[in-house]
Amino acid sequence: MSSKEYQILKIVKTLDEADVILKEHNVSKYRTSDLSSSTKYSYRCSNYRKYPLCKIEIQVYVDNNYLTEIKLMYKNVHCHEQRNTTTRAPSPVRELVSNFVQCNLTEVQIKNLLFVNDPTASMSTNQLSNLINYARRKNNPEIFSVYDFNQ
Ligand SMILES: [Zn+2]
Repeated sequence: MSSKEYQILKIVKTLDEADVILKEHNVSKYRTSDLSSSTKYSYRCSNYRKYPLCKIEIQVYVDNNYLTEIKLMYKNVHCHEQRNTTTRAPSPVRELVSNFVQCNLTEVQIKNLLFVNDPTASMSTNQLSNLINYARRKNNPEIFSVYDFNQ
């Protein structure tokens, strides 16, 4: 089975028109490539963090010589069939929290560090607290119970 090819989504004349279409499809730019005769902008799911398996891709080609010829191509559609895992934190955050807990950082320190690492991470404070508690319990049951008494 060959992988899906890009298909023409639409051809427009201005970047504003292209922007409207891109917003409608809920995608965000993640790469810009300079090709020999055009510039290619690559877009993927705006909720890519939440749905890392979402494979929608849109590419916008702006011809270097004909700037009013803007071609939008697409591949795949949104795939957000991950309901069972949405309550779980994305794995990179899990890993970070686990590492920070092993360094014996406090909850506040961990939260600050995570924010520095990834200011756009959309995780609620409660979710994060649960994750930190879980990592503590898993890494060191004794330390966890001491924390319990100190709170
Ligand atoms: Zn999506």
